[in-house]
Amino acid sequence: MPAQVDLILRGGTILTLDRDLRVLEDRAIAIDGGRILDIFDPRAKQYAARQEIDTANCILMPGLINAHSHLPMTYFRGLADDLPLETWLRDYIWPLEAKLMKHEFIGQAALHGAAEMIKNGITQVQDMYFDMPAIAAACSQAGLRAIIGEAVLEGNGSAEQARPALGEKVLELRQSFAADPLLDFNLAPHSIYACSEKTLVQVAKVAAEHGILLHMHLAETRGEVRDCLKEHGLKPVHYLQKVGILELPAVYAHGVWTDPDEIGLMAANPASVAICSDSNLKLASGILPLAEYQRQGVNLCFATDGVASNNNLDLLAEIDLTAKLHKALNSDPAFLPAARAVQMATLDAAKALGVADRRGSLEPGKDADICVLSLAGLECQPVYNPYSHVVYTLGAKQVRDVVIAGEIVLRQGRLAKVDEAELVETAKSWKQRILKELG
Ligand SMILES: [Zn+2]
Repeated sequence: MPAQVDLILRGGTILTLDRDLRVLEDRAIAIDGGRILDIFDPRAKQYAARQEIDTANCILMPGLINAHSHLPMTYFRGLADDLPLETWLRDYIWPLEAKLMKHEFIGQAALHGAAEMIKNGITQVQDMYFDMPAIAAACSQAGLRAIIGEAVLEGNGSAEQARPALGEKVLELRQSFAADPLLDFNLAPHSIYACSEKTLVQVAKVAAEHGILLHMHLAETRGEVRDCLKEHGLKPVHYLQKVGILELPAVYAHGVWTDPDEIGLMAANPASVAICSDSNLKLASGILPLAEYQRQGVNLCFATDGVASNNNLDLLAEIDLTAKLHKALNSDPAFLPAARAVQMATLDAAKALGVADRRGSLEPGKDADICVLSLAGLECQPVYNPYSHVVYTLGAKQVRDVVIAGEIVLRQGRLAKVDEAELVETAKSWKQRILKELG
């Protein structure tokens, strides 16, 4: 009698992203209890599966990990484009957020974002926003794995009133959502410019005490570095060292305006950088010194940032763009080869989030978070190198199936847990309310 398992994905090209970066053909993946039980040769071995997906003519890879986003900003897509970051934030985003920060708005916009991420092959996100319970419920409903951090910033009460209770809040949320294996919570001090020194010191203390991962914007613009020097007499990374954050495991979004000296400090600490090329280009923030980060050995991964500054959640496009941009900048077509870029989007991102023992590669024992890319279209054939395909040829359009924690959340391009047509209608109705708020 063959052993019974929950799900089998049969056939295709498997990018394991394991230690030897093995690429397997004509195998099957047996999934049980949310984890990968076995990757086997179906001619030699059998399992009885409750469900099965034929993945012949597909690439199977670890689900993409989006290391920095703001899920509820999906409803701000295209609302205020072609503006400087400062104007964009102060005249549009922050006033709107002040008026709309209600449970209903955040919940619905986050659900839209979570569903959209799944359609882009993303299986885990690290998100920073407000109202963590609303975002958690949305991710859970869509079936998206998430680490959610409440943005801590001065002026809206999140820093001043909550400062001593920051850690307890994270622990409470972990406890109240403990039944959902998809969810985790962390601490997200927004940025150097949005938090006081006192707040950053407190956040560092709390994170160290409870072993909580930190998630923060860093050195996104030139102005931010200038202000940091003016106010604190230090460059951003040195300032983070002073307040006690740098020595703690953290994911820094952007990291555009860091110099080699700061990058060296980051390399000597448990710091990862989430590259947001699309957002940085659109807001003309700049281009991060990727070659220098690599040279000094800083862990790197990719992120979409929020939809308001991107304007999509297409992580595959993000990888493609980043690889080409830095090849050109370094005048070297061999810079950031495709297999390396895929590794950054999966295993290195899992390392950044402190979950590489559970995710980031397809191996027995790891969580069954899998992205299945179709090779059926004209634009996908022929295939000589599957890594090259993932980075330069395939896009969100080819994301066919997505499995998260062993559950099929996207099947043949259709969301399994939420009604896409309903999400589209809800987004349209929010547009009217948002325009009214803007006056
Ligand atoms: Zn951001």
